[in-house]
Amino acid sequence: KAKESGKNQYCIYDAQMHDEIIRKSNVELCIREALAKDDLLIYYQPQQDLFRNKIRGVEALARLHSKELGMISPFEFISVAEYTGLIIPLGSWILKNACKQGKAWIDSGCKFGKLSVNISVHQLRNENFYDLLKEVLNETQFPVNQLELEITESVLLEFSQNNIEILKKLRSLGVSIALDDFGTGYSSLNYLTVLPIDILKIDKSFLGRALESETEHQVIKSITELAHGLSLKVVSEGVETAEQKQILKDMGCDYIQGYYFAKPGDAKSVEKWFRREQ
Ligand code: C2E
Ligand code: MG
Ligand code: MG
Ligand code: MG
Repeated sequence: KAKESGKNQYCIYDAQMHDEIIRKSNVELCIREALAKDDLLIYYQPQQDLFRNKIRGVEALARLHSKELGMISPFEFISVAEYTGLIIPLGSWILKNACKQGKAWIDSGCKFGKLSVNISVHQLRNENFYDLLKEVLNETQFPVNQLELEITESVLLEFSQNNIEILKKLRSLGVSIALDDFGTGYSSLNYLTVLPIDILKIDKSFLGRALESETEHQVIKSITELAHGLSLKVVSEGVETAEQKQILKDMGCDYIQGYYFAKPGDAKSVEKWFRREQ
């Protein structure tokens, strides 16, 4: 009997693994098809400057839709793209098309400040990335000082001297670097003093906790003060209410991003939003 149920458990496990493998290969296929057909989407989410009370930038967020699977979450398809190597062509596509869109907005008189693009560490470590970036800037004519690259914190912690050199080289072109999802990894504060970065993006999980306890509140406040001491600007992610916005403003946080100010939308709807706000 025991043996039987043991065997059964194996079967369930196998069936689950089987489903996961099928799902992943379907997602991989969707990414390949979308790239081949130029059929990826980019949403843009405005960020607010709390002290100037205006837009400070937009973050480009990749979107993938498939007829069979529906909307696929970026958490899922980015991870599939990362381990299949598809992140290299996908990341180039996003960078190029976001800059193209940004240039079109500038040409039509929209003022949006920074354009932030998420960059995977696989892209960063790719030896062609520096040249790709120069090529994209040259091709699209997007102004380099308006471009910001977001690198996720957990990834930066693996950062060797070599990776720091890569960031420095990119930064020397005039792009700014944001450390994304700060607070989700090891959050070593020492890192902040050695990394060539301009912006700290505090992860939205922090914000939830700050409202619950005074200690967590103090943590964010101290991080903000430390960041300012190092001449970094602070963006808080996932701001959904007026109360959260006020708390962050009182703490001295520079910028916010979240549903409260604006939800991510496609280029057309964000352009309408720009025109309404200006
Ligand atoms: P992220 O870079 O931290 O982006 C912010 C995420 O928070 C986005 O999720 C955004 O839709 C979501 N968000 C914004 N405001 C709020 C809010 O008020 N409440 C809540 N609950 N969520 C909010 P999204 O678009 O699903 O993207 C998830 C992650 O996928 C991104 O996190 C980023 O790490 C990754 N990602 C997205 N696009 C790209 C890309 O083009 N390249 C790479 N490498 N990664 C990407
Ligand atoms: Mg980001
Ligand atoms: Mg991220
Ligand atoms: Mg983030």
